[in-house]
Amino acid sequence: MYDKATEIEFVKKTQTLLKKNTLKEDYDNLVQSLQYHEWKYYVQNSPVLSDFDFDTLFKKLEHLELQYPELVVADSPTQRVSSDLSPDFPAVAHLNPMLSLANSYNGDDLQEFDKQIRKICLLDDQAPLDYFVEPKYDGGSIALVYENDQLLRAATRGNGAKGEEMTANAKTLPTVPLKANFSKYGIYKVELRGEAVIAKKRFHKINEEREKEGLALFANPRNAATGGLRMKDANESRKRGLEVFIFQIAYAVDAQGQNILPNLESHKKTIELLQELGFKVSLKKEQVCKNINAALKACNDWERDREKFDYEIDGAVVKVDSIALQTKSGSTQHHPRWAIAFKFKAKQAHTQLEEVEYQIGKTGALTPVAKVTPVQLAGVTVSSISLHNADFIKQKDLRVGDTVVIERAGDVIPYVVKSLEEMRSGKEVPIDFPTTCPSCSSTLAKEKDEAAWRCPNYDCKAQFLQRLIYHISKDAMNIDGFGKSNVETFYDKGWISDLSDIYNLDYDCISNLEGFGSRSVEKLKSAIDKAKSNPIHRLLNSLSIHHLGRKASKLIAQEINHVLELKNWKEEQYTDIKDIGPVVAQNVSAYFSDDKHIAVLEKMESYGVNLQQTELDKPKQVRADAPLIGKTILFTGSLQTMSRKVAQATAEEAGAKNISAVSSKLDILVVGEKAGSKLKKAQALGTVEIMTEEAFNQLVNS
Ligand SMILES: [Zn+2]
Repeated sequence: MYDKATEIEFVKKTQTLLKKNTLKEDYDNLVQSLQYHEWKYYVQNSPVLSDFDFDTLFKKLEHLELQYPELVVADSPTQRVSSDLSPDFPAVAHLNPMLSLANSYNGDDLQEFDKQIRKICLLDDQAPLDYFVEPKYDGGSIALVYENDQLLRAATRGNGAKGEEMTANAKTLPTVPLKANFSKYGIYKVELRGEAVIAKKRFHKINEEREKEGLALFANPRNAATGGLRMKDANESRKRGLEVFIFQIAYAVDAQGQNILPNLESHKKTIELLQELGFKVSLKKEQVCKNINAALKACNDWERDREKFDYEIDGAVVKVDSIALQTKSGSTQHHPRWAIAFKFKAKQAHTQLEEVEYQIGKTGALTPVAKVTPVQLAGVTVSSISLHNADFIKQKDLRVGDTVVIERAGDVIPYVVKSLEEMRSGKEVPIDFPTTCPSCSSTLAKEKDEAAWRCPNYDCKAQFLQRLIYHISKDAMNIDGFGKSNVETFYDKGWISDLSDIYNLDYDCISNLEGFGSRSVEKLKSAIDKAKSNPIHRLLNSLSIHHLGRKASKLIAQEINHVLELKNWKEEQYTDIKDIGPVVAQNVSAYFSDDKHIAVLEKMESYGVNLQQTELDKPKQVRADAPLIGKTILFTGSLQTMSRKVAQATAEEAGAKNISAVSSKLDILVVGEKAGSKLKKAQALGTVEIMTEEAFNQLVNS
């Protein structure tokens, strides 16, 4: 659609437009530029401009059109609403159009918003006007319709008038109640508005899993959430861990079809009602603000704390709290007049990819790392970013010298979104992924089903140093006062050539090293001596056996008296252990059939390292007459006599297994104060034994 030269021209034009005040004569340029960026965003799925910059341009156009209505052209981007309709899901009309929110970026915008509301509602400057401030989730919009207390339909936002029906998908989401007691409030039919999101932690995990499986990574939680809503297999939506927050009742009628929205009085009361009915909402005490200045402060607080929040948010929403005033304000064709989004500063930035370095991990995996021109991104300076693996570089066609868009989303770790092809001068150099190990020159190999290329040479120096560093780390043998730099120094001096050497160091030599006083040598020695008596599950984990993690190490440690017994173990013996799969079995079995590894372990033992099972390796014994043997249990509500963790541990000691959801698999639900939807669900099932905290305590102490 656009040729190269035109693309470059538009990128340049855009930069100018962003910098100067748009005048009347710039209108055509603005419209054309926005059309171009819309095309990049919606058609090509590869925006050149950050969302923040796009919104800024869009707003300039809106302002200009307000000033000069005679200029407005039919194909101005302001004249249509974006749509994500796809033919795979049937389109349904919303009961009330799903409008988007007007945007604001600073205190002045909010003051202007306040002024408009007062004007429309005939309130003078001093009249009280409460605002409700809530986080603006960055996910996929959703509308839920309930009729006669039953979930009737769920739909995406679509073009605002019509959305895609995805009831089957929504029904799989635990945060969407299938039934809610609206009739208690005289409501017969209701349409709710909300946002489907993925918690940052969950997002991070999904990408980790996808990386392991060699699948393309999601750029941000929003993409993972919107994609998750529209999975063809509804169960896949659930697996993705979508959560739905509800923030508005957009339509409510009684059995006679009478509008009863005004009965709700305030937005705060609406949210409280939704919460009571079992919906997930954002409700904090300080959310009602006495005036627009307090609302601005609340917005700024949200922006300051956004990283601490469990979900990705790209702004805050300021709403007139009174439903009567909301109704009075009404809406324009595009936006409700009583609400405005306060957008946060972008977490995207542009920078130059200067070079690529390669790091070798403890199991030999080669990770490419991009060195970029240092750039500020959401409060930190970013200069290097992981490129994950060779496929990632290939998919994104990254080249040295490229201008790249980077983002911090869903996690503190920066991520390369893409390179800007239209900014290329022709001097960019494609990234040649190495075929040999940069440390030992061995030819790299790749296991099937894995994305990473690995150095197959077990004695590779870079790999060995990483194994050493992991061995002494907190997760493994937990040797304090060693540190990365000492590992390298000791290796270079030839003092450590296998893991056992750590336990046979010549402390006299070390004390002669520069920077080592007698105190630090003493500290190091005592930390190493202490590590010698570690339980064997730590030792197993410290060996950096591919695929063997902490959990599997513990499971194996439970089954053996001495580590060297594993010499004679067959693969089936590993897979016989519950939760250990064939891949772990194969890798551990191969490790212990190698005489070289056995020799190192034998040396360790001769230096005093414990290889015998300890009390800490044994599974916790459950008494044969324990009261909850074979039962599954779940705690809900706030417990008064103990923390949730203690309660779960107590239940486990009594023979029960803790599970996390109410289903037909649940035997006992222990109910604390203010128990909510879980209690209702258990009651509805009728098969779950429901007991109070007191009854639980009596039972386990009996
Ligand atoms: Zn190597």
